[in-house]
Amino acid sequence: MSETLRSRDEIDSGSKWRIEDLYPDAESFEKDFDKVNALIDRIEKEGRDFVKDKESFKAFMKLYLEAGELFERVYVYANLKHHEDMTVSENRIRADRAGLLESKLSAALAFFEPKIMELDEDTLNGFLDSEETGYLKKFFENITRLKKHTLSEKEEKLLALASPMAEAAETVFEMFNNADADFGVLKEKKDTVLTHARFGKYMTSKNRNLRKEVFDKYYALYQKYNNTLAAVYVSRLKSEIFYAKARGYESSMEMELASSNIPCRVYTNLVETVRSRLDLMHRYMRFRKKALGVEELHMYDIYAPLVPEDEVKISFEEAKDIVREAVSVLGKEYTDAFENGLTGGFIDVYENKGKRSGAYSWGAYGCHPFVLLNHQDDLNSVFTLIHEMGHAMHSWFSSENQPYIYAGYKIFVAEVASTCNEALLIKYLISKTDEKLKADPDERTAAAARKRKAVLVNYFLEQFRTTLFRQTMFAEFEMKVHDMAMKGESIDADILNEIYLQLNKDYYGEDMISDEAIKVEWSRIPHFYSPFYVYQYATGFSAAIALSVRILSGDEDKIGAYLGFLKSGGSDYPIELLKKAGVDMNKTKPVEDALDVFGDYLSIMEELLLGKAW
Ligand SMILES: [Zn+2]
Repeated sequence: MSETLRSRDEIDSGSKWRIEDLYPDAESFEKDFDKVNALIDRIEKEGRDFVKDKESFKAFMKLYLEAGELFERVYVYANLKHHEDMTVSENRIRADRAGLLESKLSAALAFFEPKIMELDEDTLNGFLDSEETGYLKKFFENITRLKKHTLSEKEEKLLALASPMAEAAETVFEMFNNADADFGVLKEKKDTVLTHARFGKYMTSKNRNLRKEVFDKYYALYQKYNNTLAAVYVSRLKSEIFYAKARGYESSMEMELASSNIPCRVYTNLVETVRSRLDLMHRYMRFRKKALGVEELHMYDIYAPLVPEDEVKISFEEAKDIVREAVSVLGKEYTDAFENGLTGGFIDVYENKGKRSGAYSWGAYGCHPFVLLNHQDDLNSVFTLIHEMGHAMHSWFSSENQPYIYAGYKIFVAEVASTCNEALLIKYLISKTDEKLKADPDERTAAAARKRKAVLVNYFLEQFRTTLFRQTMFAEFEMKVHDMAMKGESIDADILNEIYLQLNKDYYGEDMISDEAIKVEWSRIPHFYSPFYVYQYATGFSAAIALSVRILSGDEDKIGAYLGFLKSGGSDYPIELLKKAGVDMNKTKPVEDALDVFGDYLSIMEELLLGKAW
């Protein structure tokens, strides 16, 4: 970049978040920091026999919640401040101190859950039988529901001692993948060194020779260490099976899904439903082959751009107007809160020297959420804005309607509100291009509108491919290999490669050449070291798309149910909350609905191509 970045001082205050809403100055932060320390001391003293009687329990829970809430504010402030300009050492030191405070607090609370587990049901219910503590029933139910998988104190201690050994596989993989992996240099790029980041970037290049070279070089390394990487992954599988068996679970899947109380049915439904509609993915690949105009479609063509880049410049002011319109279908209650979010000091808009990259929404209970952006005046930035504002509104409504303990939400539902907003934005922007096309424009305007529409639809289709289809394929791979491991079958590199290559063929279909090299792709996916995690991307995406369809119907009850979901935070289990919003993830319908939406957009894209839109 030739343009130099502005320093933070040079940016007008209206474009920065109002961090003073958390703490007006460093002194007030320090006061609360000391308070948290004092609360931790009290936890250590008073916590020892908090289950002695009802009064001690009540007093301790007050302390527990006060410490948690105050700590959160301190921690969030320290990190937000750090992200404003990471070159300021004062900010970095404050964030480090907050990190240490976190360890101190969690160490002080280590006794908490085991003590609760030891209580018999009647005693705990007795403790919760009061006006002040009654609302905590769900919170404790969420702890005690895993009781039958919790072992004796001695056995738990042994398991805890074994955990560094169980983590070894992941450490070895990370060392290989991040420190030692040497992919060589690229001839097509004047001997530029190939890295993970460049793999991602160059796979989207228009230069097919470059894509092929990148693909071959990248996977050659994983092929070279195929046996080693298989052994590392299999040892991860074995540690997972060890814990599942030790804790009395039927399977490793059951164990992992239990943490959010998700039935295995939800997982298998996803896999079965996507599998039953793979014809859609095959159709998309056929379309891609045609649109790219290639004789053979290869795995290195999968990220090649289908449509020219969108060059339309969109200022932040314009972006705000667009997203306002896009969410207007959600009604006054939502749009009022949204407007407050756009203008009320939530958002840190522009890049500045030392600012953290990327985008997120984050916050502390009792204060509005904060949204970090690095706005670039392009279409992607509009999607980022509405996505992060989706998170922010979810937090806002939950904080306004839930007590501190239930204000946060689980990963299983975390991307629902953000993805749903993106779906509303797509729909809105496409309707705008359709209006332009209908208004009998001259040929130049019409061509521009069709190109815009193609850019939008393409963006959405790619999201479906990478989130719904690809993550489900990963989920199916995990399901298969964990099942084999659970049954004690032997697994080696050849078996893993074979399973993966077959899945790749099944998912992409006959119009895609499943190049041999792709069979080792499983060995480069870091997420496989967090078993049964990725499926949540696909289920969350499906739920969001299904909800957007309900919202766009304009039915007030359906919109009301969705707002109810946004207000519910973590007051119930994720599946229950989504059910109340109108999507039952125990059934196949939400995934089917999402796949139907994919089919609709694919038809639009095919039509645009036939009409030679670009
Ligand atoms: Zn997100």
